[in-house]
Amino acid sequence: MIKVFLTDLDNTLSDFMRMKRAAVDTAIDFMVNIGLKVPRSEMYDEIFKIYRATHIESQSAIEQALLNKTGGVDRKLLAAGIVGYQRGRDMSTYTYPHVEITLKELLRMGLKLGVISDAPTEPAYNRLVRLGLLPWFDIIVTFDDTGKRKPSPEPFQFAIEKLKVKPEEILYCGDWPERDIPGAKALGIHTVFARWGEHPDALPTGAEFDLKDMYDIVAVIKKLNKSY
Ligand SMILES: [Mg+2]
Repeated sequence: MIKVFLTDLDNTLSDFMRMKRAAVDTAIDFMVNIGLKVPRSEMYDEIFKIYRATHIESQSAIEQALLNKTGGVDRKLLAAGIVGYQRGRDMSTYTYPHVEITLKELLRMGLKLGVISDAPTEPAYNRLVRLGLLPWFDIIVTFDDTGKRKPSPEPFQFAIEKLKVKPEEILYCGDWPERDIPGAKALGIHTVFARWGEHPDALPTGAEFDLKDMYDIVAVIKKLNKSY
């Protein structure tokens, strides 16, 4: 009997890279409006280079990019860049198709809901607030809870202990085969591969179910619960 639905956050509930691209694009637009002379594509590549190397968000990445590309940090350009970044980020932070109606249906079926994310606590909660999904979840496990990232089974074990359920009573959904599936599977948790996420062409995924639309999770859980 499936009692709990756990899900990955980035690229499973929402398109993280769409958000990132829109944030950086708008940051550059705002800086160009104030007088940035660096070519758009150069600035774009620089911010992403800094992001990939350090995984730092928003303010520090823009500050560093201005320093690298203009030899200093103009306060007006920085302020415009930060506001542009936040504006672009917020406009593009929304869910994949059918995320809300799926979660709503699972709640109606009496399931508990949870998130297992490799992101640190602050940005993970921040993104859930911006998606409007924070109140829906009974548990949110982030990197800071265990100090371990998927595919380690530890974040899943943490959720199992907190929710006091058996692994076979959980269905977990994630978009990255190597990271999302093995840890959950090793504990005996049922797994769904989110083909709508960042790895639509992944093969093989090792997951028990492979779905293109999040709403199909409802049918998977009904099917699993019928066989109990
Ligand atoms: Mg993911």
